[in-house]
Amino acid sequence: MGAITLDKVTKAFGTMAVIPGVDLEIADGEFVVFVGPSGCGKSTLLRLIAGLEDVTSGAIRIDGSDATRVAPARRRLAMVFQSYALYPHMSVYNNIAFPLKMAGQDKATIRRKVEGAARILNLTDYLERRPGQLSGGQRQRVAIGRAIVREPAAFLFDEPLSNLDAALRVNMRLEISELHQSLKTTMIYVTHDQVEAMTMADKIVVLNAGRIEQVGSPLELYNRPANVFVAGFIGSPK
Ligand code: ADP
Ligand code: MG
Repeated sequence: MGAITLDKVTKAFGTMAVIPGVDLEIADGEFVVFVGPSGCGKSTLLRLIAGLEDVTSGAIRIDGSDATRVAPARRRLAMVFQSYALYPHMSVYNNIAFPLKMAGQDKATIRRKVEGAARILNLTDYLERRPGQLSGGQRQRVAIGRAIVREPAAFLFDEPLSNLDAALRVNMRLEISELHQSLKTTMIYVTHDQVEAMTMADKIVVLNAGRIEQVGSPLELYNRPANVFVAGFIGSPK
């Protein structure tokens, strides 16, 4: 399960209202992309959902229950950080196993889950290496592996490909889309890249200054942009 509802969510830092108010419904299994210019509040919104920031007002529900009463570690949401968040001194195996060890799972279960994730991500032959001995794409897969083993209700990605080169980005986009096809788990993917949004999303949420300008499928946004901002950002002729 991984249905997420935002109900009149606001966030202020001091006197600055970064998120003046957001209502949003994400269905279980959906691939949702938050897109918008730098500084529009994409990361803040994702961090609110992850519980890494507290909402100023409003409610976030995950599968119907009030997430703001649940500690981040217990929300069963896995945030995928950029690949440089790996532990350089640990093997790939131990990097992926880390959240399971922290949760006190037994060795056999950890091995089964890590090997399962490694198979999905084509990392089976790299488990004994250190992150420094991997390519950028492989490192990003390890970061995703660390999320997969937690068997989350939803994956949260914050611009995970922004430090990869263009060709690799295209590849990883496809891999993440394929991962969504096979796991069918809810994914929220933050990017400022329109192409990424248009090619990956079931549903795009266009943000501007902490507000939602439009929610729709890539085709809906392209064919029927709600306003000039969306048209300009998505690149459709309006
Ligand atoms: P995006 O991810 O879309 O680039 P962010 O969510 O990171 O945007 O930031 C939205 C706005 O909130 C920016 O103006 C940023 O400076 C501000 N902001 C983000 N985090 C903090 C913080 N911890 N304290 C103060 N301001 C913040
Ligand atoms: Mg950001």
